[in-house]
Amino acid sequence: MQGRKVIITGVPGVGKTTVINEALQTLRDEGVEYQSINFGSFMFEVAKNDDVVQNRDQMRSLDRAVQKQLQQRAAQAIAKVPGNVLIDTHASVKTPKGYLAGLPEWVLREIMPDIIVLVETDDDQILMRRLTDETRARDKEGSRSIAEHQQFNRSIAAAYAMMTGCTIKIVINADFLLDRSSSELADVLR
Ligand code: AMP
Ligand code: MG
Repeated sequence: MQGRKVIITGVPGVGKTTVINEALQTLRDEGVEYQSINFGSFMFEVAKNDDVVQNRDQMRSLDRAVQKQLQQRAAQAIAKVPGNVLIDTHASVKTPKGYLAGLPEWVLREIMPDIIVLVETDDDQILMRRLTDETRARDKEGSRSIAEHQQFNRSIAAAYAMMTGCTIKIVINADFLLDRSSSELADVLR
């Protein structure tokens, strides 16, 4: 059977990685296997080797043409992974020059997802989560601008659905309700 390709997105700090880990553990216990792939890590490996950045949070400030090239190479590598794959990435990336599509036509053509999941929550919850995450160089932004980014992600996801025929699933990852968000994610992956 051909593997299922699911793309999961959400603004930085929404808790995607946590929801993914929980859902994949649940599925593993049932014997359903998904390989979890981080799109940014694929890009970062190349960027680090090319000596254009030192940490992954510097990539979004690179020249647009460089980001596009890294993105394209990541998509090609990810497309080769067999079986069920869950790809952790961004519907759009907030760059100093505006929103950059995370899944432009040349990325979608490689991956052809069955489902795109949008992980969302309240803007002020995201703000708090970013403030308390010391492991990352998260951009400083207010809840109004986080709201704008989440709105933009919904809009651009509609375009992705048009281009691929994939479904769009919105999962809310609210504070203290990780069980609910991870079980909703597991439901779409089963
Ligand atoms: P993350 O660890 O998911 O926050 O990703 C780290 C960085 O990888 C992001 O800040 C972006 O610069 C880059 N990145 C991840 N996915 C994409 C994508 N689909 N298109 C462009 N850049 C991406
Ligand atoms: Mg993450």
